[in-house]
Amino acid sequence: MLVPQRFAQRMRHGDPDDPLLRQVMPDAAENNSPPEFLKDPVGDLPASPQPGLVHKYQGRVLLVTTGACAVHCRYCFRRHFPYADENAGRDRWRNAIAYIRRQPGIREVILSGGDPLLLATRRLSRLTRQLEPIAHVRTLRIHTRVPIVLESRINRNLLSWLRELPWRKLIVVHANHERELDERVGGRLAALRDSGAILLNQSVLLRGVNDNADTLIRLSERLFDYGVLPYYLHLLDPVEGAAHFTVANENIRNIIHELRVQLPGYLIPRPVREKAGAAYKIPLI
Ligand SMILES: *Cc1c(COP(=O)(O)O)cnc(C)c1O
Ligand code: SF4
Repeated sequence: MLVPQRFAQRMRHGDPDDPLLRQVMPDAAENNSPPEFLKDPVGDLPASPQPGLVHKYQGRVLLVTTGACAVHCRYCFRRHFPYADENAGRDRWRNAIAYIRRQPGIREVILSGGDPLLLATRRLSRLTRQLEPIAHVRTLRIHTRVPIVLESRINRNLLSWLRELPWRKLIVVHANHERELDERVGGRLAALRDSGAILLNQSVLLRGVNDNADTLIRLSERLFDYGVLPYYLHLLDPVEGAAHFTVANENIRNIIHELRVQLPGYLIPRPVREKAGAAYKIPLI
């Protein structure tokens, strides 16, 4: 279990059902995992041509820069991912970068993990310097929960690295509940935006956390207050130990219908399901 203090402070103390607590608190139910909940539910391992690289979708590759995260989310689809073998840490970047260089179809590199922003800025900068000579890469994307759970990491050094990157830049953060975002987080998000990045958010639909339309509407509104647009609403990946977060299909349909009724189109996250072997994330309804 790993939770930054600032994230814990946003929980309602004394409330065992707090939606922020529920995301990080081990639950005895994790030990009774149904057999259809797998260790690699999204098929990342077969899609890994090099250690540290997942090339599952056309035109973009995901670079597993580190196995470390700032918070341990109980529902994480990578909770059993063999990071020690499969991250592109240290000198392994060389092979991953050589793969990207050989494939002119790769237009976008996604720094993922774990959480890439847990790497020291000088290591990030060493990595992006190696990517810079590859002319077919046009966009750099960063998938990170750090701005939400450990906003102090968004410091001056990191921002100046970001500002100087030569690509189109996207940062996809990960928040599931409006209370994860407060003024301090909002200030750091604004700083990221000022560095020239477009900000999007992805959430996971989780029972007991955000499985009702009102919560998701408030989340979208709060994100928009801070200049972030919703991107994906992931249905839970059937990863071993996370079955207690499952939302019933009927509820999913009702929630999404309600979002569509109440929100302008740009504040509706795209509901998607990851399917091993599919060419894209499958839109729901
Ligand atoms: C989600 C994902 C991407 C990015 O997909 P987009 O639809 O472009 O957001 C890329 N690679 C992998 C392995 C992914 O899981
Ligand atoms: S921050 Fe993301 S990758 Fe890390 S444990 Fe949470 S969901 Fe998984």
